[in-house]
Amino acid sequence: MKCLICGCDDTKVLESRLAGDSRSIRRRRVCRNCDHRFTTYEKEETLEVHIRKKDGHVQPYQREKAMRSVQVACQKRNIKMEEIEFMLRKVELRFQELGERVISSRQLGDLIMEGLSTLDQVAYVRFASVYKDFKDPNEFYSILRSLNKSNRSPTEGRLRNSSDRATQKEDPPCLPA
Ligand SMILES: [Zn+2]
Repeated sequence: MKCLICGCDDTKVLESRLAGDSRSIRRRRVCRNCDHRFTTYEKEETLEVHIRKKDGHVQPYQREKAMRSVQVACQKRNIKMEEIEFMLRKVELRFQELGERVISSRQLGDLIMEGLSTLDQVAYVRFASVYKDFKDPNEFYSILRSLNKSNRSPTEGRLRNSSDRATQKEDPPCLPA
């Protein structure tokens, strides 16, 4: 990355975070030679992760497909498209952290549920009911109970985690430079 002022190619990254469109990474840089500060936007390479389905079938991860299933769960809830996109981007960042080329559909579903649990609890329950394929109303109640529990006791790890995540929502997570 060359400095536009002095042409020096020795720049330092000051800060990295997801850009507003959540598809690119915004980096603040400073030129080590002349101290000129500038911002770059870098598009990430297409995410090459494959999903192993329950029947063992492996297929490329499709953001559109994941997006649709989340949108169905979020119907008529007051959730902005950007919030859904941002949540999915965080899920995809987790794939990268895991460093796996193939993840199971179960892991994908769990990560999405984790994201939805802090976004909207109704959407969370709807997604869970499809994804977990409830056959028994008791499974449904146990999901509801687990939500109530995490609302009530502030000392529980679950709630502590979710308030951490809520902070991240306002302030996108910093990425490694
Ligand atoms: Zn410079």
